[in-house]
Amino acid sequence: MRIRIIRNAIRCNHCGDIIESTPVHDFRTCSCGCVSVDGGHEYLRRCFRYSPVDFTDLSEVEPAGDGDLENGDDDHRAKNFMASSAYVLSS
Ligand SMILES: [Zn+2]
Repeated sequence: MRIRIIRNAIRCNHCGDIIESTPVHDFRTCSCGCVSVDGGHEYLRRCFRYSPVDFTDLSEVEPAGDGDLENGDDDHRAKNFMASSAYVLSS
């Protein structure tokens, strides 16, 4: 499934920091160091020290269906997304 990442952000459940990755390779860590985000709008990567419940996912994504290519940039993004194995989306 193709998705488009609108916002790549999480909130640390320990220190309460909200960290957001905007450009790709923009690696952000909260002030207590428990959780990190990376990937910008290309993919969603989460790192955590203890468990996935260390953070609350604030990311916004929307489906980008095959019939929904209103500009060429979508195809580029989808390809980068598919090439990434780091995708983790907390539900
Ligand atoms: Zn923290």
